[in-house]
Amino acid sequence: MMKIAIVGGGAAGMMCAATIAEKNPEGAEVFLVEKNSILGNKVIISGGGRCNVTTGIQNIDEVLKKYPRGKNLLKFAMYNFSPEKVYQWFENHGVPMKTEADLRVFPRSNNGGDVVGVFENIFKKNDAEMLLKTKVDSVEKFGDKFVLIFADGGELEVDKLVVTTGGQAYKKTGSTGDGYSFAEDLGHSITALAPSLNAFILKDTWVKDLAGVSFKKAGFKIVGEKTSKFEGAFLFTHNGITGPAVFALSSLAAFDLADLKKEVTMFIDFFPEFNYEEMSVKIKKALQENPKKSFVNTLDFFIPKSLAEVISNNLQIKAGKINAEIGKIEINKTVEWLKNATITVVGRSAGEEFVTAGGINSKEIDPKTLESKICPGLYFAGEILDVDGFTGGFNLQAAWCTGRLVGESLIP
Ligand SMILES: Cc1cc2nc3c(=O)[nH]c(=O)nc-3n(C[C@H](O)[C@H](O)[C@H](O)COP(=O)(O)OP(=O)(O)OC[C@H]3O[C@@H](n4cnc5c(N)ncnc54)[C@H](O)[C@@H]3O)c2cc1C
Repeated sequence: MMKIAIVGGGAAGMMCAATIAEKNPEGAEVFLVEKNSILGNKVIISGGGRCNVTTGIQNIDEVLKKYPRGKNLLKFAMYNFSPEKVYQWFENHGVPMKTEADLRVFPRSNNGGDVVGVFENIFKKNDAEMLLKTKVDSVEKFGDKFVLIFADGGELEVDKLVVTTGGQAYKKTGSTGDGYSFAEDLGHSITALAPSLNAFILKDTWVKDLAGVSFKKAGFKIVGEKTSKFEGAFLFTHNGITGPAVFALSSLAAFDLADLKKEVTMFIDFFPEFNYEEMSVKIKKALQENPKKSFVNTLDFFIPKSLAEVISNNLQIKAGKINAEIGKIEINKTVEWLKNATITVVGRSAGEEFVTAGGINSKEIDPKTLESKICPGLYFAGEILDVDGFTGGFNLQAAWCTGRLVGESLIP
């Protein structure tokens, strides 16, 4: 009987093991090896405990656009087990789903534990072999066989090896990036790795005066190796910025932001729908119509008062200065602030979701099976791949569909 080891009982590993268990309970002996005492630690805490399982976007080409890296590798797996199929799969396994207005899909119970419960039931029903509290230290290949060496000294010999150890974000969940070294030992190369989907800590001390102030639409830009831009909603925190547009930018510019020991300059456009000229006309008009009003109280026609105060402090415009006294240079500087505010990123803080960009070099993997082109019998699925997406259920979707494809490749 063919022996298969799946190392890592997270989203991808569980889906891979469940696919095999449901397809062919008797044809193969499967070992799901997980170092934690429970399965799916990260899945349980995902989406703030609610688990944003997948996306409600149905057009797969649109879905693939949400992955700054890895769309080519992912394409086949995504068509094979699309967000719609994932939604249906969980419903068919007794977990009703719902799609929220922003197209994020959650279990109706808002409980990530229910998602993991599906897999636990499948494994119980099929008597799957789960090696919990079992940390794999290293893997070796001898002829056609793989040998897993456990931290407690035990060994396991198998015919096929699936590595689903995840990325290295939120290490306390167990995903510490061990699989990268297993892959390297078996001949693979790993691309540069960088954190993605995080909020930022800023050097600019004025942000604390804006904590909690949100904007429906602003443009963000980083000029690094390449220029990365994104428009969307964001929020100031007590020490930085967060929100969907910030997470998206952290993803697009993940490698320019990889080393935050160096400060990184970022630009915010608070009015992406107007150009400089249009913004300037708007402000001049407001000043002319209200000559006796204070500048700050006029700026707050356009922006929250706290931001108006930060801008006038920064431009050293005295509190109470009236519009009739505001000159052309001050207007131009205000427009520059609103259209191209410079902020300095000095660190990252966890977002709702947090992933590792980069992973196993996609060129070394067959996208139709996710089998290694370098080491036959070795497969990869989930975040360990060089695949990562925006927030909104795209990272779990990638884990489900790649885990599924490996399961189907192993038991056709
Ligand atoms: C806080 C947070 C919230 C998130 N929320 C969402 C969300 O709502 N929606 C979404 O789409 N994505 C979300 N993500 C991302 C998503 O959870 C991951 O991309 C996804 O879990 C990756 O699945 P995976 O199976 O590849 O890896 P993981 O789920 O990380 O699983 C890897 C498993 O391998 C085990 N392991 C590692 N090394 C070894 C070893 N040596 N021996 C044995 N076992 C080992 C780990 O213990 C772990 O259980 C979130 C991430 C974080 C950190």
